[in-house]
Amino acid sequence: MFQENIFTQRGQALHKRVDDPGVEVRDGLRVERALPLYSDRLGLVGKVDVVEFLPDGSPYPVEYKHGSRHKRAEIARCDDLQLAAQAMCLEEMTGHSVPEAALFYATLRRCREVLISPELHQAVETALVEIRSMLSLGRLPPRRNDDHCRACSLRDLCQPEVLADNERHRRVLDHLFYEDD
Ligand code: SF4
Repeated sequence: MFQENIFTQRGQALHKRVDDPGVEVRDGLRVERALPLYSDRLGLVGKVDVVEFLPDGSPYPVEYKHGSRHKRAEIARCDDLQLAAQAMCLEEMTGHSVPEAALFYATLRRCREVLISPELHQAVETALVEIRSMLSLGRLPPRRNDDHCRACSLRDLCQPEVLADNERHRRVLDHLFYEDD
C-alpha cells in the first residue's frame, strides 16, 4: 500500500528539480544529477540526487531532503543510513573511497555533512541482513508507534496506536503472513 500526505508530496515536488538526469561542470567539479547506483556485493540498486566528482574522480554524494536539518537523532539516523548505502554503492562503482557525503535541506538551503564511518558501513550491512531475513520469512517489521509515525503517510492505514497496544490484533495480523498449506 502507498498513500500520499503533505510530506510525501513536498518530497516529490523537491525531487522533481533533481530527478532529471544531467551533467554539468560547476566550480571545476563534474556534477551529475539523478545518478543510478548499484552494488553487486550488497545486492543494492538505487539513485542518488546529486554526485559531485572531484578532479581525481572521487565522488561526493548529496541527497536532497525537505524539512529541517535539526531532526530528532533517530530520524536523522535514517537519512544517514540512506546516504551511507549510496556512498557504499559509489565506492564499488568508482573504486574511490567515499569518506564524506551531505544531506541538503532544501527548505532552509542548508547542508549537513555526514561522515561515512566504519560504524555506518556496518549499520547498513546489518540492516540489509535484517531486511532480507524479514522478506524471506514473509514478515512485516514491528509497528513502531513512535516519532517516526507522526508524519508517516501510512498512519491511517497502519493505525500504530491501536495495533501497538493490542496484543490480540498483533497476533492476528502476524498470523496473516504465515504460509498456509
Ligand atoms: S509503524 Fe508508524 S512509521 Fe511504520 S508504517 Fe506504521 S505509521 Fe508508518
